[in-house]
Amino acid sequence: MNSTSRTLAIGPYSETDHRALVDELGAVVLPGLAALADLPQRDRAGVEALAYMGHAPLGGAQMDLLPALRVIANYGVGYDAIDVAAADARGVVVTNTPDVLSEDVADLAVALILAHARGLVAGAAHVATGGWARGRPLPLGRKVSGARVGILGLGRIGREIADRMAAFGCPIHYWSRSAKSVPPGWTAHETPAALAAHSDFLVVALVGGRETEGMVSAGVIGAMPRDAVLVNISRGSTVDEDALIEALAGGRIAGAALDVMRNEPDPDARLLTLPNVLLLPHIGSATVETRAEMAALQRRNIAAVLKGERPPTPVN
Ligand code: NAP
Repeated sequence: MNSTSRTLAIGPYSETDHRALVDELGAVVLPGLAALADLPQRDRAGVEALAYMGHAPLGGAQMDLLPALRVIANYGVGYDAIDVAAADARGVVVTNTPDVLSEDVADLAVALILAHARGLVAGAAHVATGGWARGRPLPLGRKVSGARVGILGLGRIGREIADRMAAFGCPIHYWSRSAKSVPPGWTAHETPAALAAHSDFLVVALVGGRETEGMVSAGVIGAMPRDAVLVNISRGSTVDEDALIEALAGGRIAGAALDVMRNEPDPDARLLTLPNVLLLPHIGSATVETRAEMAALQRRNIAAVLKGERPPTPVN
């Protein structure tokens, strides 16, 4: 490592983003957080900026390995992996990448709703494996247009999802921590359970982290109509996964479509075998265009702090 580097980047960056980190910021790039402790002290001493891409917890112990640290720039809007209080205590600014990914994550939520309801995965397999050619029957799907969509957490992404589903003629229901200005006809609910009771598709768009841990509780899942589907594009931590699995196994709800789950990338084995569960590998923002914008915003945040300016998207 070049011990004069002011920027350290950690994570599996694409070749293009890796090159930009090196060209624009002179960064040294490590594959993962575990490699940080192995860097010699002289290489860590001058690091002022950390570009972080990953979900492994980044806390005070790691920050203390970088005594000159001024900014942790997270690649992603969700920064629940970073101990912001520990950063505050060390005078370290934390930044994230809001807005630039909201459309993609909302698009994926719509895709999950449609794929689950209309049996797209089973349908494609039916053609590929010759079931269609042999005249085998395929179960009917469920109509999405006009179904009630409940959004748990009407933030940036939640709002984008709601707008999309409103265009499908779906009545929009929501619960959010703070009051929202919404189009006429959208229905706010007092509690997550009340929202669940009025949702055919309950879409979770909360932040992750300790405060929302298990908010989709056994009680919330129990309030869902029997033919309802849970969609999660937020964080696995927001859902009581044992309660969800129990509800799915017992036919208490109709299904789940999850881009995020606990223990990624090795989810609970029961989720893999349950019918009516559609799992994706946390790909909400995974398009070429959006990932490039996220990486560029991450670099702009770092460049600003290194120049002594306020970064564009700080979280503390
Ligand atoms: P956002 O605008 O901050 O919205 C977050 C929502 O969570 C808001 O409704 C917010 O309520 C609510 N919330 C925050 N703290 C809460 C608390 N303590 N209790 C209850 N509700 C709380 O964030 P966003 O940009 O929409 O992103 C939302 C999340 O999506 C991210 O944090 C990330 O975890 C996840 N995400 C997933 C993917 C993926 O690949 N699947 C990609 C990007 C993001 P208020 O409106 O009242 O503040």
